Amino acid sequence: MSAEIIDGKAIAAQVRERVAREVRELRASGADPGLATVLVGDDPASHVYVRMKREACEEVGITPIHHELDAATPADELRNLLAALNEDRAVTGVLLQLPLPAHLDPNEMTGLIAAEKDVDGLTPLSAGLLAQGRPSLVPCTPAGVMELLAHARVALEGARAVVIGRSQLVGRPITQLLLAADATVTQCHSRTRDLAAVCREADVLVVAVGRPGTVTGEMVAEGAVVIDVGTSRTDDGLVGDVDFESAAAKARAITPVPGGVGPMTIAMLLSNTARAAQMQLHGSGSPTPAAG
Ligand code: NAP
Repeated sequence: MSAEIIDGKAIAAQVRERVAREVRELRASGADPGLATVLVGDDPASHVYVRMKREACEEVGITPIHHELDAATPADELRNLLAALNEDRAVTGVLLQLPLPAHLDPNEMTGLIAAEKDVDGLTPLSAGLLAQGRPSLVPCTPAGVMELLAHARVALEGARAVVIGRSQLVGRPITQLLLAADATVTQCHSRTRDLAAVCREADVLVVAVGRPGTVTGEMVAEGAVVIDVGTSRTDDGLVGDVDFESAAAKARAITPVPGGVGPMTIAMLLSNTARAAQMQLHGSGSPTPAAG
């Protein structure tokens, strides 16, 4: 079988075009979408990610609002900033870039973001709504995975889906979204016994581990759809968790690394920011769960 390569770059570009249209409509209705990014400390990768996010905002007409804090910033100062951003009407989305310096608790700080501005979808309220099957603002990478599956016209109702990884950021929300789409989902992790046998049951296999070679062709059922979320920097460049050649020989469709899930994350952040601005324009300020 020769697998369809799911082109995340092209699909992300379509999402960005859609968001740019939505932002124009929002502005015509009197809204002013603005994304506040909060960066604490000197992590070089975080600086690059935040810069990319701000540039992406500008491209689609969202106003980037940036706050950069010293690595030694006291917890109270960050709490006060997040409270001020929650109140600021020029800010329709708040993104606290992780990781934080060790003295700041990421769960506590993320949890301080107002739910209607939670464009990363990581607050307990957003995660709780998702777990109840009432998704509101959904974490960006998992939302990107669902967008890729939709573009590849993967029928999820009744499909057997296997997710490897159970992090708050990626694995768990992907499982919840697949469940909300009526797939029958098995979630795997580092303690799963006979991972290969579980994977071979999958019509849809989503791999989010961070370890190259976690999935090889012999673990993929003939005709399955394989989504590789993993990214690891190696001497050969950026690689995923899936051995692409052997998996593509079995799969019906597969994402490459790079160029698969990666480009979707910022595209879905923009999409969430537009959605948050829409909710604030039309609603009372509390998040309205999405249909489905
Ligand atoms: P994480 O928090 O480290 O979680 C990794 C998960 O993999 C854990 O649940 C862990 O199980 C599981 N795992 C580890 N070794 C395993 C094994 N041998 N067999 C089965 N499961 C195993 O990582 P994450 O934040 O979810 O990220 C996962 C990957 O996605 C990373 O490569 C990351 O860089 C990438 N990522 C990419 C994007 C993007 O935009 N493309 C965005 C976010 C993340 P336990 O829970 O039992 O420890």
